[in-house]
Amino acid sequence: MKYEHLYVVIEHEQGKPVPVSLEMLGEARRLMDGYNKKYSANEKVVAVVLGNNVRKLAEELIYHGADAVIYSDSPEFEYSRNVIDTKVISAIATSRELALKFSPESTDFVKPRYMFFSADNIGRQLSSTVIGALDSGLASDINKLVIEDLEIRHEHKTKGQPMIYERTLEMYRPDFSGFLWTTILCLDNRNPAIQRDYHPQACSIIPAVFAPIERDTSRKGIVVDHVPTFDPKDLQVKIISRKIVKSNVDFDSKKAVVSFGRGIKDAPADNIELVVDLAKEINAEVGVSLPISKKPFPVSESTSSTYMNSDRVVGTSGRKVVPLLYIAVGISGAMHHLAGMKESEFVIAINPDEEANIKDESDIFIKGRMEDVIPILIEELRALKPIMEVRK
Ligand SMILES: Cc1cc2nc3c(=O)[nH]c(=O)nc-3n(C[C@H](O)[C@H](O)[C@H](O)COP(=O)(O)OP(=O)(O)OC[C@H]3O[C@@H](n4cnc5c(N)ncnc54)[C@H](O)[C@@H]3O)c2cc1C
Repeated sequence: MKYEHLYVVIEHEQGKPVPVSLEMLGEARRLMDGYNKKYSANEKVVAVVLGNNVRKLAEELIYHGADAVIYSDSPEFEYSRNVIDTKVISAIATSRELALKFSPESTDFVKPRYMFFSADNIGRQLSSTVIGALDSGLASDINKLVIEDLEIRHEHKTKGQPMIYERTLEMYRPDFSGFLWTTILCLDNRNPAIQRDYHPQACSIIPAVFAPIERDTSRKGIVVDHVPTFDPKDLQVKIISRKIVKSNVDFDSKKAVVSFGRGIKDAPADNIELVVDLAKEINAEVGVSLPISKKPFPVSESTSSTYMNSDRVVGTSGRKVVPLLYIAVGISGAMHHLAGMKESEFVIAINPDEEANIKDESDIFIKGRMEDVIPILIEELRALKPIMEVRK
């Protein structure tokens, strides 16, 4: 077959996989187990790793669900650089020679059937450049995947005729602030006038949506070595030094996080002050929803730079937090936000809208406006303080 297997592009920091890589492998495993059963096939989950001396990671990925790992090793891969990463991954994805090493029956292999990237800063860019180079289509920010045979009738793709598209990857993404689903299909043009294949069917996957499978050291697989070649002009961009800027925002050691969203809109400056007061009362860090980091409301320069910034964003575009207590104030609960906080031990939401998604994620939902609720909470907390002190 021309198109076979599911390739997963792995991201890592010096050999340590970023969590979404293992999540993608887990979902790939589940999908391909179902696929192989349904179609009596033997297609593989193939992890693709570029790195500098990280062969151990390649072996580890088999324990996390890969049937095969294509490992390309070079000092040039110490840190990710889009131009060379794109060229090498595209070369790997179109190599029949490599495919034959883990799947001897892949004699007609041209490209992967499916391909996954992570929807983080590196993966979002890399997915678009690799899939551009592979001449296919990309669905970005996906959080649900299904493989189905579909009957499609389309003015251009099928010239208006109903046709069966087998083994189609239905890629779901949350749109309109995460409250509607869009299903994206990457379909070949079967209309003779514009005939053209679109493979791999590819997507980038939102972090923290899928569960990794449990590490199992009895799983068997094969590591295939790839020797990369570089065009000297592609090596002109060099990383001279790389500094990880430590954030002043401390989501890790604080036991509680109080986050606020666009619900502050009626009196932004006063409402941020309320949230900060509540956070101080319980020694919590302050988080925000993504729109807040875009500074949507006028407040003082110092409030804006301290609180309306990307360091504080909770969710797929920001940080994942796992505190004992998460308080969501004026946040609707879009899935991009939920992905960053849903593993919190105990969740309280303050919101006047009972229909808000955040309600389903909450252990306690306080129906009300923050302007009314937070002062009462602070008052109660202050009243409890002497009792708590005595108990200490
Ligand atoms: C690719 C992509 C990535 C994204 N990544 C992230 C991410 O990492 N993190 C993130 O947060 N978002 C992310 N988003 C945006 C996300 O989809 C939502 O648009 C966003 O989370 C909504 O923010 P919000 O809850 O603050 O605002 P809204 O959805 O506008 O909700 C405001 C809430 O405030 C409530 N409210 C109104 N008045 C009051 C009041 N007086 N008191 C209390 N509550 C009140 C309303 O009932 C409402 O529920 C992303 C979107 C995309 C497309």
